[in-house]
Amino acid sequence: MKVTPAALAATAAATAALAVTLVLDPAPTRASAAVPSPSAAPPAAAIPLGAAPVAQVGKGGVPAAPTPSAASPSSATPASSASPASAARPSGPCALSGLRAGASEAAATPKGYARSSGTVRALTLLIDFPDVRAPLTPEARYGEFFPATAEFFRASSYGRLDYRSTPRLKWIRMPRSFASYGIKRGASFVPGTDTGYYALSRDLVSAVDDEVDFRDYDVVNVLATPNAGPPATRTVLSGSFSGGNLGLRTKDGVPLSNVSFMWSRQTGESAFRALNHENAHTFGLPDLYFTDGRKAPPPVGHWDPMDEDWGPDNDFLGWHKWKLGWLRPGQVECAARPGAVTEHTLTPTRSADGTKIVVIPVSARAAFVLEARERGRLDPSVCRAGVLITWVRTDVPSGRGPIRTVDATPRSRGCYASDENVDTELSDAQFLPGQRFTDRESGAAVTVLGRDAHDNYRVRVRAARVPGKPKD
Ligand SMILES: [Zn+2]
Repeated sequence: MKVTPAALAATAAATAALAVTLVLDPAPTRASAAVPSPSAAPPAAAIPLGAAPVAQVGKGGVPAAPTPSAASPSSATPASSASPASAARPSGPCALSGLRAGASEAAATPKGYARSSGTVRALTLLIDFPDVRAPLTPEARYGEFFPATAEFFRASSYGRLDYRSTPRLKWIRMPRSFASYGIKRGASFVPGTDTGYYALSRDLVSAVDDEVDFRDYDVVNVLATPNAGPPATRTVLSGSFSGGNLGLRTKDGVPLSNVSFMWSRQTGESAFRALNHENAHTFGLPDLYFTDGRKAPPPVGHWDPMDEDWGPDNDFLGWHKWKLGWLRPGQVECAARPGAVTEHTLTPTRSADGTKIVVIPVSARAAFVLEARERGRLDPSVCRAGVLITWVRTDVPSGRGPIRTVDATPRSRGCYASDENVDTELSDAQFLPGQRFTDRESGAAVTVLGRDAHDNYRVRVRAARVPGKPKD
């Protein structure tokens, strides 16, 4: 989960490049086992990424309320206008604008990122090195990630992301030693250089270009033999390069882009999700955890794999599902009319139907987002049911805390403590029936009215007084 602005030199290729983001990922949060100092910041923080000679990217609960049906009869405005049932792109007053380059929480994703709904085709390659030979079969390494990664996306997207991985089930022996590429945390992708990810990618493309048509794929996964480099519990090397032309052209006339490199292994259950996290970057999602080394608690906690992707499964935030095209029009309700009081019915995240999020914009670039998070297949560690409120900022870059969870029970120490990869404090962050949240500054307010027998929540919302104006 660690991001950094990427490095692209000003080459001819880079000139045409869009904003390309190098994402270094993810670091174990408090990975129990192998992290030497448990209370220390993630190991990765020690690397002065920001100081690296990386050019700025080219340019680049209470009484249950009656909740009859999923379709809420609220007076809220549908956020999206009619569009095909499958891939509804965010629209309407709640589709916040924001940063235009790189991965951000802005509702629209810039060109150059991979499509995130419908059929997404992934080419999955496996590599090893003359000095670090694979100790397992390619099938075994591939099996660490598939079909789990694709199934996770299918479930989280309610079937709207049909992720198809085409593997080349053989170890592609790189022509040079692992050491010679200089792959370390923070290694860059600089066109024309003979080290780092550019050199590695150049050699990899060269090895498979005759047999692979890169035009057939939306994303590329590179699974390195797990014994190359340090264990992920010590230093996370995995990362992705996404968002545009990296400056490496294939024989098929398309540039290599939206590529994720997976090194070593995460520990514990659902280790495959590191790939979901990396692929989500290629879909345009930013890192939610702090990548700048600050000593601060996780901003979102286990409520989204872009903050925590170690430990038990966790589903994506509803805001992310909207951004990725996984919600139908009408599943997002927008409380944008200044000061208006509306009522809404939220169905639990685990269910494909009904209203998934209510958005209360506070400015053109900030909103509170409500969703009903309950224990479910993708949320096995949820220890308290209720309405989760998050604070989304579309003008805050990846890795700087673009989303914060509003904690209904500050300093409670949470309700889940059986896995150190789950932030405990925020595990009981949801609001229960009878509880109210008010943002004094904007006047926005949320009251959880009740929960019915189907775990649907009725909420009353007061919109912000003057939405639409950036307050900063
Ligand atoms: Zn990340």
